[in-house]
Amino acid sequence: MNHHDSDVLILGGGVVGLSCALFLLKSGATVRVLEQGVPGGGASHGNCGTITPSHAPPLTMPGMVGAALRSMLRADAPLYLNPRIDGPRLRWLLGFARRCNWRDFHRATMARAAILQRSRQLLSELVRAEGLDCEFTEGGVLYVYRTPGPLAADELHHAAVLDALGIETQRLSGGEVEAMEPALRPGVVGGLFHPGDAQLRPDRLVSELAGRVRALGGSIVADAKVDRVDTGGRHLTHVRTARGVFSGREVVMALGAWSPLLGRSLGLRLPMQPGKGYSLTYTRPAQTPRRALVLREPSVCVTTWSSGYRLGSTMEFSGYAEGLNRTRIDALRRGAAMGLHEPEGPELLEEWWGWRPMCVDELPIIGPSSRWTNLHFATGHGMLGVSMSAATGELVAAQDGVTAAS
Ligand SMILES: Cc1cc2nc3c(=O)[nH]c(=O)nc-3n(C[C@H](O)[C@H](O)[C@H](O)COP(=O)(O)OP(=O)(O)OC[C@H]3O[C@@H](n4cnc5c(N)ncnc54)[C@H](O)[C@@H]3O)c2cc1C
Repeated sequence: MNHHDSDVLILGGGVVGLSCALFLLKSGATVRVLEQGVPGGGASHGNCGTITPSHAPPLTMPGMVGAALRSMLRADAPLYLNPRIDGPRLRWLLGFARRCNWRDFHRATMARAAILQRSRQLLSELVRAEGLDCEFTEGGVLYVYRTPGPLAADELHHAAVLDALGIETQRLSGGEVEAMEPALRPGVVGGLFHPGDAQLRPDRLVSELAGRVRALGGSIVADAKVDRVDTGGRHLTHVRTARGVFSGREVVMALGAWSPLLGRSLGLRLPMQPGKGYSLTYTRPAQTPRRALVLREPSVCVTTWSSGYRLGSTMEFSGYAEGLNRTRIDALRRGAAMGLHEPEGPELLEEWWGWRPMCVDELPIIGPSSRWTNLHFATGHGMLGVSMSAATGELVAAQDGVTAAS
């Protein structure tokens, strides 16, 4: 079997792996990306494409465990925990529950804000400098509320926290929100607008990133599922795939939600679970929102691009169960219909599901492995992998020894 060598081998060709590849190439390394399917075919394909420093506060907050447990009774709840819980999922849940306190919440918020804000800045620079054609717009994200309870809770635990971090939130009355967004049905009680947020078309972004990686001399090997990694001492020596055997002086694990599966074969226990989400992509309705919206009560995200229109969201913890769940797709549709005059576009182009790589503490895992000397992690970005992608690439390329030849 052929044997190929490069400075850095990146496992996983999603938005995170490709961003790492781009930053590493710019630092002068030779790079090869190994992807089991097509680049960008995982969670990076059908997500909502919002770039959101406003999402700095994590899900790990007091009260969240109760909400998750109640959701077990409702298969169409925005956050759904499948009651058939296996060992790894139970361990993950207990770890998540332990972090649902204000001290961990504030710590995680600070760390997330730092990477989100850096990434937001880098992404707009990257899009301009590299000419990435991905429908990037800087119009902000608007949260829309139809009941006072969630609005009051988010003002207290979300907006006030963002204020302290210097991430702008504009508090809007129901009338102001309806005037800003005529696509909304009446009955809005208020809104929180985050003008610093942005949006892009994620499938376009990954395809543009892949193009830049190749143009800079990087190699992307599709249909190269990593089956096994050979080790020698504390070193990863060879990566075995159906497309050949590869090695790299350094190896970056950017396998998103699949990371724990390969991690296990290397004796690593990564505290992650797949958080399944769904999206529906349409041609544009006649009356579309002017900016990205989050319809807060049903937890539906609405993104409009010049090339299309997407409803997305829902978070389901069902382990690695593949496929669409009709109950949850229908709940997405119903949620959009509660909020919008024209919730769906004329033509449904794609029904999609994807696995968010959800870390137990809602923080991505970026940095060197303490077990394997040439392994680095770039994974666990949860609900924010597109938003955090550029800063992750920058961080990985800046790590000691990753670009410099040893
Ligand atoms: C419904 C939904 C909406 C979302 N909306 C947003 C949003 O608005 N903004 C935002 O920032 N984030 C959003 N996200 C989260 C975002 O999609 C993820 O955080 C991000 O895509 C993770 O990127 P990744 O590169 O780590 O993972 P992935 O894109 O999943 O990439 C991992 C890659 O590894 C490959 N792979 C797996 N195993 C192997 C193997 N053994 N060998 C080789 N390759 C392998 C997979 O095929 C895959 O392509 C959303 C997610 C969902 C599900």
